[in-house]
Amino acid sequence: MNFSRFISRVSAARKESPIRETTQIKLQNPEVISLAGGYPNPAMFPFQSAEIKTRDGLKVQFNEQDMKTALQYSASQGTPDLLKWVKKLHVKYHNPPIMKMEEKEGFTACVSCGSQDGLIKVFEMLINPGDNVLLDDPCYAGTLAMVKPMDCNLIPVSTDHHGLQPNSLLSVLENWKPENSHDPKSDIPRVLYTIPNCGNPTGATQTLERKKEIYAIAQKYDLVIVEDDPYYFLQFNTPSLSYQALDVDGRVIRCDSMSKVMSSGLRIGWISGAYPFIQRLILHQQASILHTSTFVQMMISRLLDQWGLEGFENHTKNVQKFYKERRDAMIKYTTKWLTGLAEWTEPEGGMFLWIKLVGVDDTTLLIKKKALEKKVLLLPGSAFSVVEGTSSSFCRVSYSFATDEEMDDSVCD
Ligand code: PMP
Repeated sequence: MNFSRFISRVSAARKESPIRETTQIKLQNPEVISLAGGYPNPAMFPFQSAEIKTRDGLKVQFNEQDMKTALQYSASQGTPDLLKWVKKLHVKYHNPPIMKMEEKEGFTACVSCGSQDGLIKVFEMLINPGDNVLLDDPCYAGTLAMVKPMDCNLIPVSTDHHGLQPNSLLSVLENWKPENSHDPKSDIPRVLYTIPNCGNPTGATQTLERKKEIYAIAQKYDLVIVEDDPYYFLQFNTPSLSYQALDVDGRVIRCDSMSKVMSSGLRIGWISGAYPFIQRLILHQQASILHTSTFVQMMISRLLDQWGLEGFENHTKNVQKFYKERRDAMIKYTTKWLTGLAEWTEPEGGMFLWIKLVGVDDTTLLIKKKALEKKVLLLPGSAFSVVEGTSSSFCRVSYSFATDEEMDDSVCD
């Protein structure tokens, strides 16, 4: 694959930081006496040790020596122990074909501050002003907030209860005319962003057949697929193969997150894919946050060390059970109060129910005024429209937090 064709001008201009390079040498060779880096002396840090208890009775412990490492600068790509775990998880759940490729083109990953931080770096790496970018419509509002200011042309691709529709994608590409874009000199799109599982806002999960069709289209038109999959571990049924699992070329950049299964506040996610892409992200990381918190990365990898793959899987099963019960409750109260007034498809995972209000052209006012008067907060479908100002008959309902009583009261209102 010609990776350089996808790299934006800003990303292509990024260079290795000389300071970070010396940090890497010191990390790999602790015997080296470094007078190069601006490492603060940990003897001056106030924290000495830590012990974090888990709900299942384990303890993640940091003695004085561990604490010195945990509070110090570390590699921009991520701590070696967490990166080892990332690789282990990808071998187990995705077995990426690109792992068999040579190191220079093969699989690698970079730890980020949640997948949001990773995603914005991915877009900066792929998009030049004036570019045309394909996205699920409706689309995760957090993604719209990233790409809208990038002066690119956002091209909506229709979705249904199984997410992105291959026919809609094909039709955009087959009928591509430069004059359709806001910059007539710009090329056919090179980037497709999609949420394959338990979509935000629609809750939709793509079938394997769809993913295969979409991947084949990406190969035909030489697209990069940005696979944003933070709800992967919140699927109630056996997950189908991911885009990364189908990716024989290196054209899939996958975004993962620990937010929904470990903690959203610890801010841990990672981006994985072919080295030529991930290496650009590492350079961005060197120039921006330097790295994700060393302490938090160690906290997570140490818990994973104690759990092992089996313990992690048991934990994710528990998480799925919890959200499945919440989903069932939400469906129960929605059916009780909204039958005949609204339409919905039962989500196969995640946290969101996408409800269409029958006979309502746009839910925005209804939600912003009437629902709020009844002390209920919801999001109108229009907040997720790729084309700003498009009205929507839908609203997004989150069932992750509310109790049965709150669900019953809010849907009844
Ligand atoms: N992508 C999607 C589709 C999301 O729903 C979210 C969280 N709302 C994110 C990315 C960002 O998640 P985080 O940064 O917490 O990993």
